[in-house]
Amino acid sequence: MPQTATRLSVFTESVIRGMSRLATRHGAINLAQGFPDFDPPEELLAALERATRGPHHQYAVTWGAPRFRQALARKITRFTGMPVDPDQHLVVTCGSTEAMMVAMMTACNPGDKVIVFSPFYENYAADAILSGAEPIYVPLRPPHFDFDPAELARAFARGAKAIVVCNPSNPTGKVFTRAELLTILELAERHDAFVITDEPYEHIVYAPGEHVYFAALPGAAERTITCNSLSKTYSITGWRLGYVHAAPEVIAQARKVHDFLTVGAAAPLQEAAVAGLELPDSYYAGLRDLYTAKRDLFLPALRAMGLPFSEPAGAYYVLVDISSLGFPRDLDAAEWFVREIGVAGVPGSSFFREPENRYLRFHFAKRAETLQAAGERLLKVRSR
Ligand code: GLN
Repeated sequence: MPQTATRLSVFTESVIRGMSRLATRHGAINLAQGFPDFDPPEELLAALERATRGPHHQYAVTWGAPRFRQALARKITRFTGMPVDPDQHLVVTCGSTEAMMVAMMTACNPGDKVIVFSPFYENYAADAILSGAEPIYVPLRPPHFDFDPAELARAFARGAKAIVVCNPSNPTGKVFTRAELLTILELAERHDAFVITDEPYEHIVYAPGEHVYFAALPGAAERTITCNSLSKTYSITGWRLGYVHAAPEVIAQARKVHDFLTVGAAAPLQEAAVAGLELPDSYYAGLRDLYTAKRDLFLPALRAMGLPFSEPAGAYYVLVDISSLGFPRDLDAAEWFVREIGVAGVPGSSFFREPENRYLRFHFAKRAETLQAAGERLLKVRSR
């Protein structure tokens, strides 16, 4: 048999998605892959019903249906203050997952170096490798997951072509401060590098924190390739709607990558999602309150379990320190949690470059009943 491509041997299938399958097989509560178990807003469901009867069943414009891009441009302007031309600044993609791949392939030549903070959302290293680039890593150090500016400067000095910034950060829950982002911008400017951001949790930031849009920092727009998604904001992870937002010169190239990867995102879903993009500001305040309440329900359950963790400032993930449980590998711990406790998390090692076996990641994008049930099950950990 012919051999498959060697670049595929340097990374594994997604551990996050694998844990979802394991959870389903064992009937465990899935706090591994981050997605809600509740429905999207009624406005989206009604719009989806209407869209099924409209003329939306064939290919949309490759880089996004015009009505969707117009609504998206208005929504981005509303929150970032940036002028957005729907015909020049946007490519609509199949989730932020495709957006990240498009961004990476648009920014990098084979052999280019891409800075990735560790821990990182597992797609980033795979995205870099699949586009022929080489990920180089800069640690975010617990408990606050700060980076050392001197260490970051040394990584840039190795000739980085781009840096990936996930903000709010998956899996750490870190929300980058304006000062941190300005440090990154200054280094990116000095080394003429792109900043590829992944911001699907832009609206899930807990008080008193505030999301700072990298592209809106002074002078940042020309080198920022913002990747984003509607998945988490409107609880529609299965709709696979995301986008790249960047300067027209970048978008002109990104459109080509997107076109040859997927042609386009689902047309009826783009039509229906306009209803989400047009929701008033109060919706976003409500979303933040909803997730604040979930956080306030879940963190005490973790405390009752008796293992240390750091509180997320944004997004909905918690890295729990399981080292006191005495498992040789976090993969064993994750499996034990699924089989014996009935709750699935993600082994932390899948997010770290460093040999790290200390964490399991749990998420709390679940209904109150689900979180309560998970909390009860997690109490059993105490008797190990
Ligand atoms: N971002 C989610 C997580 O980390 C999952 C996204 C996905 O699986 N595409 O769990």
